[in-house]
Amino acid sequence: MFHVELYSTANPSSSYSLKEAVLTGLAPDGGLFMPHHIIPLPNSFWSDFYQKSFNQICIEVAQHLLHPAVPNQDIPTLIHRAFNFEAPLVQLDDQISVLELFHGPSLAFKDFGAQFMAQLMAYFHPKSEKPLVILVATSGDTGGAVAAGFHNVPGIQVVILFPKGKVSPLQQKQLTTFDNNVTAVEIDGSFDDCQTMVKKAFLDKDLKKSVNLSSANSINIARLIPQSFYFFSAVQQLNTQNDIVVSVPSGNFGNLTAGLLAQSLGLPIKHFVASTNINDVIPIYLRTGRFTARPSIQTLSNAMDVGNPSNFDRMQALYGSTWNHMKSDISGYSFTDKQTLSSIKYIHDQYEYIADPHAAVGFLGLQSYLRENPKARGIFLATAHHSKFKQTIDQALNFDTPVHPVLNRLKNLSESYISLPNSNTTLKHLLLDKFT
Ligand SMILES: *Cc1c(COP(=O)(O)O)cnc(C)c1O
Repeated sequence: MFHVELYSTANPSSSYSLKEAVLTGLAPDGGLFMPHHIIPLPNSFWSDFYQKSFNQICIEVAQHLLHPAVPNQDIPTLIHRAFNFEAPLVQLDDQISVLELFHGPSLAFKDFGAQFMAQLMAYFHPKSEKPLVILVATSGDTGGAVAAGFHNVPGIQVVILFPKGKVSPLQQKQLTTFDNNVTAVEIDGSFDDCQTMVKKAFLDKDLKKSVNLSSANSINIARLIPQSFYFFSAVQQLNTQNDIVVSVPSGNFGNLTAGLLAQSLGLPIKHFVASTNINDVIPIYLRTGRFTARPSIQTLSNAMDVGNPSNFDRMQALYGSTWNHMKSDISGYSFTDKQTLSSIKYIHDQYEYIADPHAAVGFLGLQSYLRENPKARGIFLATAHHSKFKQTIDQALNFDTPVHPVLNRLKNLSESYISLPNSNTTLKHLLLDKFT
């Protein structure tokens, strides 16, 4: 149980409350928040595990992790507000199943984290105070999930910076078609410029005095916690006595870290596969014990183009920095774009199933592992709906693949956003004008 004392990975003897961790995202010393103690779930949780609904799983795991920082009786409401979608497991053959994580509003697994984080932030932010202003930079996918998560959440305003002309037209629609409390801002610059502007805004003394700024980045502990829920659901739906291995298509390794958290809570997952594209810092670490960050390389599975995975510190924290333990629990494999395209084709030919490029990498990792461990039952995670990557999928499959109705609807919505130069002072004025 978190007992709701957290520490910063930069200083193991530090101590923070859950509220502080959720509202600040990153520890003041630059480390990531982690629970001091992770206590396995009680026997009572397991006695009727196979009868629980998805919602019940979420509620009970959240209660175990968050009480008393969030009292038990307040948790069902949080869960109901966060999740009106689930994570179905689809069996492809006797050995392989796929966990579909794309049934949320932005059609990607980041919805689980963003929806729950939004509810938890609203919970911790007293409505009587000035609005909490969430300021984020996005290179694409995260912004859509954050916008959908916070849309119409009382007491919270969201400002999303995106680089002009550098997000896909569809991703831009996912940022700019909300109203009310979501403001999209196009910056005449790169994604790095957007991130720098966010960082500078957080350091600005005038802003600090007059605006209640907060971040919603992917390293917030409030995004990690809900991502553990669907690992429970996956194991429950698979319902097997065999060893279970889960392959996680990974970039920043938040998803895989959430799986490790579920395992620490007692979930019987025997092994994890860290599946990456050619940005393979972690598979190399698992093979050699050496972690060397590198600039990221662009690939078809672009949400995993990460050269310095931020959750590596958390993985190390869970394993007490011992490489031996980590590598006996996790295998790493990396794949090229060419292999990803053939994998999409293979999965369709073999199972009549359409996997997005990220899921296809997950499938490849699982396949590699199962070759050596043929008795295990495998699950790979499908982290996005395939029609978000229609061009790539059509190229791999050589036909016009169907578009998800949510994306079709989006095409007809009109966009609204503010355009700003790459300048800290104009952003500052915008924030002061809007929120004071
Ligand atoms: C963000 C993302 C990933 C990578 O997840 P991490 O938690 O950063 O490892 C994989 N697939 C999709 C579709 C994503 O959006």
